[in-house]
Amino acid sequence: MLNKTNETLNTFSIKPKLIILTSISMIGMAIIFVLFLNSITKSLYAEREMHIEKLLDTGYNILDHFYTLQQENKLTQEEAQALVVNTLKSAKYGPNGYFWIIDTKGVIIMHPYAQEIVGKSALSIKDSNGGYMFVDFVEKAKAGGGFVEYYWPKPNSDISYKKISNISLFNQWGWSIGTGIYVDDIEKDIESIAYKIISIITIIFIIISLISIYMSNKFLRQMSDLAMYDPLTSLYNRRYMYQETSALVSNHDRYGEKYLAVIFLDIDLFKNINDTYGHSYGDKVISFVGESILKSIRAGDIAIRYGGEEFLVIMLCNNKDEALDVATRIRDNVSQMDTDKDISLTLSAGIAFRDTDEKFEKVIERADSKLYKAKEAGRDCIKY
Ligand code: GH3
Ligand code: MG
Ligand code: MG
Repeated sequence: MLNKTNETLNTFSIKPKLIILTSISMIGMAIIFVLFLNSITKSLYAEREMHIEKLLDTGYNILDHFYTLQQENKLTQEEAQALVVNTLKSAKYGPNGYFWIIDTKGVIIMHPYAQEIVGKSALSIKDSNGGYMFVDFVEKAKAGGGFVEYYWPKPNSDISYKKISNISLFNQWGWSIGTGIYVDDIEKDIESIAYKIISIITIIFIIISLISIYMSNKFLRQMSDLAMYDPLTSLYNRRYMYQETSALVSNHDRYGEKYLAVIFLDIDLFKNINDTYGHSYGDKVISFVGESILKSIRAGDIAIRYGGEEFLVIMLCNNKDEALDVATRIRDNVSQMDTDKDISLTLSAGIAFRDTDEKFEKVIERADSKLYKAKEAGRDCIKY
């Protein structure tokens, strides 16, 4: 029954909505994650580029210094250029930092770690990504300088790593000086940040999902309780009985030797109680009768608030007396209500037993006619 109710609730229900909500929040988090990573990447690269620019300035000033000496006729151009080449060739910084010089046609003037290409055009050199970085260097230099991203081996290594270089043209000699920094560590840093964030997002996702599942299950339970139970008495409501009829009837058919009894109970002259003591006192009485019924039935019996002050008990029993005993117990319990008012609270009851192949609704009708008979007989009694 609970499953049936849950299915019904699911069809128009909260679960798909929670899934959509969770998915939207996950997509939102993923977007924030990508934007965040992007901004970190940009700022790390920007920081490196600023650093490279400063280093290139230093190299450029060395070049300019020897050019000034040439201008002052203290050095010939050959001497000045040879001094620049020697000075910058040995000017190293950081773990992998160095300078190189090319001319405007892409011929290498100086490279401290690639002696074999010095004096040759480097325009045809490709990196592992297929990029012609020296073509880019020449273009950037002509445009007044700028950054180029490419892959190049680290000093004394054959493996290429991502590198950013800055190049600047020294127009007077037609030389361009360049220097760069490897950025593979940035990629690694970003990768590790990404893993951390993905782990956090996954944990958040699991937590949100668990909370969603918990909340939707709780909500479904509450909804199914509402669909099954009468809030005033906590007995099953009439809708529940109709849903359960087929199970009860098939149980009765299966255990043919047993009786399926319907006890129809009705509070006597309840209208008077309402009229005399008010509707809310009437509610208290109904709730007390509900409690008394629950106290009096056996495990497996079903108690239903059928209408205003009408109740049904449906039970499988071995003999007809069992149903009579339950009805009597209920009436006894009800009569013990401490009413603190000048009323005598009584119940009338009608009992019917299901015939083979009889429709369940018919059994209820028959129990109702017996109840009518009890009322006719002056109330406060059981007819069967
Ligand atoms: P009888 O002995 O013939 O059954 O008389 P009765 O007064 O009990 O029956 P009747 O059908 O005339 O009145 C039932 C009353 O129950 C009428 C209705 O206002 C009241 N009632 C129905 N549902 C509720 C409820 O939930 N709370 C309260 N307080 N009263 C209710
Ligand atoms: Mg009544
Ligand atoms: Mg009634």
